[in-house]
Parts: sequence; C-alpha cells; structure tokens
Amino acid sequence: MNIEQCHNQMSEKNEVHLRFPSLPENIAFARSTVAAFAVQIESFTEAEYNEIRKAVSEAVSNCVQHAYPNSVGMIDISVFINEQTLTIIIKDQGVGIENVDLAKESDFTTKPDENLGLGFSFMTACMDKIEIQSILGEGTTVTMKKRPEKLDA
Ligand code: ATP
Ligand code: MG
Repeated sequence: MNIEQCHNQMSEKNEVHLRFPSLPENIAFARSTVAAFAVQIESFTEAEYNEIRKAVSEAVSNCVQHAYPNSVGMIDISVFINEQTLTIIIKDQGVGIENVDLAKESDFTTKPDENLGLGFSFMTACMDKIEIQSILGEGTTVTMKKRPEKLDA
C-alpha cells in the first residue's frame, strides 16, 4: 500500500469529541469546529456546510437555553465521519423534554416570550435525518446525519 492509499483508507473513518459548558459564547465555537471537521468530506457544497453550521447552532442553542435553566451544565458533542456520511451527536444532562413529538412541531416553544419554536424544524430541514432521545431529569441527545447530496445523485 502506498502512502496515498494508506491515507485514503485512514480518512474513511474519523471522529472528534468536544465537551464544553453551556455558555452562549460556545455556540459559535461548536458550529465552527464541527464545520471545520466536516470539510474532510470534500463532496459537501458550501450550502451544505452552512446547513451543518445552522443545525449545530440550533441544537447547541437548545442546550444553552433549555437544558440547564438558571445554571450551567456540560454539553458533549461527538462527530463521526464514516463512508462520507457525517453523524453529529449533541448531548446534555439537563432537564429533558416532556413530549418530544410536540417539541419537534414547528412553532412549539416553552419560551414564547423569547423564542419562535423553530429550532427543531431548522435541524430537520438542514440535515438528512434527526433523532431526539430525551428522558425527563436525565437529559437530551440529538443525533443528526448528513451525506453530500451529489454522492447520491
Ligand atoms: P427557537 O429554536 O426558535 O429559538 P425553541 O428553542 O423554543 O425556539 P425548538 O428549538 O424547536 O424551539 O425547541 C422546542 C422546545 O423543545 C423548546 O422550547 C424546549 O422546551 C424544548 N427543548 C429543546 N431542546 C431542549 C433541550 N436540550 N433540553 C430541554 N428542552 C429542550
Ligand atoms: Mg431552539
């Protein structure tokens, strides 16, 4: 195997893990870091990188705004590249979501004075797949997947 073949084989799978407190200033950090990692999937277009940024921003904003009311807790992000597919897992150990189906609905928010209730709708629109697991009092995990559209064209 030459170096390039070796390199290609290594690049098929990669992962990165981030852990940071739920401070608003870390939203931009998370968005930029995940996007910087995602560029290893070269077939994504600029528009698709922007969709990844948007989805991460919304998911991390939710951890900052809703998961730890009046306190600061930790947010864990794991990002995986496997066969040109990006998987992003964003996890908090906060209050959890009472009704996930309701929370996913466009315009649903528990903070109507400040928010529009569009975060999950944006995440759904920006990514190929989104899964939300939540247990009251234990926390929430949002898993999102995206693959460059041109690969499946
Ligand atoms: P917007 O995203 O438009 O600012 P929003 O955050 O209220 O408004 P969504 O992001 O769609 O809207 O989330 C819907 C609701 O789900 C939130 O109002 C909140 O009650 C709940 N929620 C979302 N993420 C979490 C989380 N990580 N922990 C606890 N509750 C959450
Ligand atoms: Mg939101």
